[in-house]
Amino acid sequence: MSIKVRFAPSPTGRLHVGNVRTALVNWLFAKGQGGAFVLRIDDTDLARSTPEFEQGIEDDLRWLGLVWDERHNQSQRFDRYAGAAERLKATGRLYPCYETAEELDRRRKVQLSRGQPPIYDRAALKLTDAERAALEAEGRRPHWRFRLEGRRVAWEDLARGHAEVDTASMSDPVLIREDGLYLYTLPSVVDDIDMGISHVIRGEDHVTNTGAQIEIFEALLVGTGRAVPGFAHMPLLVGADGEALSKRLGSLSVAEMRDQGYEPLAIVSHLGRIGTSDPLEIAPSLADLGRTFAFSKMGRAPARYDVADLDRLNAQVLHAMSHAEAQPRLAALDCDLGPAFWDAVRPNLQTFAEVTALARLVRGPVTPVVEDQAFLDAAAALLPAEIDAGAWAAWTGAVKAETGAKGKALFRPLRLALTGQDQGPDMSLLAPLVGRARIVRRLRGETA
Ligand code: GLU
Repeated sequence: MSIKVRFAPSPTGRLHVGNVRTALVNWLFAKGQGGAFVLRIDDTDLARSTPEFEQGIEDDLRWLGLVWDERHNQSQRFDRYAGAAERLKATGRLYPCYETAEELDRRRKVQLSRGQPPIYDRAALKLTDAERAALEAEGRRPHWRFRLEGRRVAWEDLARGHAEVDTASMSDPVLIREDGLYLYTLPSVVDDIDMGISHVIRGEDHVTNTGAQIEIFEALLVGTGRAVPGFAHMPLLVGADGEALSKRLGSLSVAEMRDQGYEPLAIVSHLGRIGTSDPLEIAPSLADLGRTFAFSKMGRAPARYDVADLDRLNAQVLHAMSHAEAQPRLAALDCDLGPAFWDAVRPNLQTFAEVTALARLVRGPVTPVVEDQAFLDAAAALLPAEIDAGAWAAWTGAVKAETGAKGKALFRPLRLALTGQDQGPDMSLLAPLVGRARIVRRLRGETA
């Protein structure tokens, strides 16, 4: 079977870590097996969907490397949904209902007060033609419900194993609203059929939907010889405290993470591996992550999203980055001081943007912090003529012999004078980059 999956966001907001994980897992599953990844923009809700959000989704996916093989907009496909709706109407599976929201609410309350489940009672199915005509004459427009068979719908879920939904415990879902708007349920099934989707991979909040949608698939596929796609429902993400992540999703948009300096490879390594049995380490590449991805490694428990893990992975990406890789970004920040500079500072980076402050340590201006000028004068008198690779060790050795200072008492005042801070890159690598002239000035306490 050829693998074809889809990521189907609604363009009503920016992507956040929850839906990016869904996109990523779809991509990894497909690409790990040479399959295709479809981007489907679920924009049937024309009032809430915007071109800006659509563009934002594309930008975020591209930035993460999640490129798609095909792209569709549901808003271009209304004729397909209308065709499917007509077929379901013809077989009696889609039926018109005229209740107002208040009427439905009242009935639900009565059911609850009697201890009955609040399931739609299918009163509309009993309407006669004359009653329907009378309601329409009153100006009521129908909404359309899909008549469930009310049975155990079962499937082998790639993530959950054997799964079952009893559609007898559900209300017949509304597929078309009274204003003609197609809710997500039917268009999604029509598209999955038309686009030849082999697997529907999404969050476990869709499990109940899947029960109804499998019935819709079967109703539309009858006689075609085609099978219902496979399904995988992933456990949801929770925060480090085990609480649902949804409340904080606003601060976890991909756009904001990019602004905060997170690297795409750190984000995908993190989201691709949390909740799996793989170690939480950086993958060499997105493609490599795809080759090692398997649903069999995914646990049933919620996946813990801990920013501390992401921070660690982000630092790992930067620490392993070659100068050749970093060079265009260094140049863009006007901080490309060569491979020796990059090698000196990368072990200290948490985010790439911190490199600008580190470049200033080399180029200046640095305002020295001086606690004991006499000590710095003594050190300056011993400074080697040339600041090469071995200079720092030779110099600090000489300062130690001359002054008797050792350990922190030796290194801290020198670092404070030369960089204005008490921690930072390896001084033996930094000193040759700073150069003798600036070192001399900084040892005098001058901003240089
Ligand atoms: N637009 C739907 C959502 O974002 C798609 C769900 C699905 O993957 O079927 O929830």
